[in-house]
Amino acid sequence: MIQLFLPLNFLGFVYREIRRALTDLENMLGLLTRKPSINDGPGAEPLTLTQGAIRFENVKFHYDSDRPILNELSFNVPAGSKVAVVGASGAGKSTLARLLYRFYELNSGAIYIDEQPIHKVTLASLRQAIAIVPQDTVLFNTTIVENIAYGRPDASADEINKAIDMAHLRAFINSLDKGDQTLVGERGLKVSGGEKQRIAIARAILKKSPILIFDEATSALDSHSEQAILSAMREVASEHTSIVIAHRLSTITDADTIIVLKAGQVIEQGKHDDLLALQGEYARMWELQQKQSDNA
Ligand code: ADP
Ligand code: MG
Repeated sequence: MIQLFLPLNFLGFVYREIRRALTDLENMLGLLTRKPSINDGPGAEPLTLTQGAIRFENVKFHYDSDRPILNELSFNVPAGSKVAVVGASGAGKSTLARLLYRFYELNSGAIYIDEQPIHKVTLASLRQAIAIVPQDTVLFNTTIVENIAYGRPDASADEINKAIDMAHLRAFINSLDKGDQTLVGERGLKVSGGEKQRIAIARAILKKSPILIFDEATSALDSHSEQAILSAMREVASEHTSIVIAHRLSTITDADTIIVLKAGQVIEQGKHDDLLALQGEYARMWELQQKQSDNA
């Protein structure tokens, strides 16, 4: 463990790194209960990012050995493209995001970023390459601006302002007496789900990672907030490789490819119109959701 003769500024560094790592986990899972047993492999090198292409190859994964979750899962996310992942709740969508972030080891198969297996690169470089907008964003008990900049404490005011604009947070911040210095979190201003999501999007923008993952970032929002977030997401995603995990299919009809996940496998994939024409699982889910929104 950490020895006492280490200089204090190093301890501060360790503390910040640990806090940041924990926050990333917390963001992904919405809890702080587990520590990963994942480490850099021997001789791990930093990821060399060229384009940000992602490839899952025959990925098998279970949390508990008697219950397979992903079963020989293979798919590509070409550099710069937007791939949507849809499927019933429990299909394994969030799991594949966690595996890409290397929160767990695979049972077999491999995940590649720019043709480098992610288990062979350093964790820090992998996680720097990926920004995740989780379903439930955790805000710290500090100012809005610190909440946005926590992933990049060195960001300039210009960069922060650009992220605020892109995430459609400007009007909200301007409506507050103390602006971006307003305290949020448990002891501060209560912010809505939609505002939280936009803070998470601003964080992700500021992180400047070439790979972006949105995990049901707009579920459970009213349709006005959803539209604001969707337009923010589209703007950001246009510059990145992105994986958009979605429950509501109407939010991902513009994806370059839609992957339909069922029982841990890709059962259909293609563009929205092609999948409708296929009249399979996607078309069935689409019809069901159209009916639900007609009735709403
Ligand atoms: P989705 O995001 O598609 O709704 P998940 O990837 O979250 O699905 O979960 C896939 C399956 O794995 C679900 O059946 C879920 O209950 C199970 N699961 C998720 N996380 C864990 C965990 N930490 N331990 C055990 N089982 C889990
Ligand atoms: Mg999920």
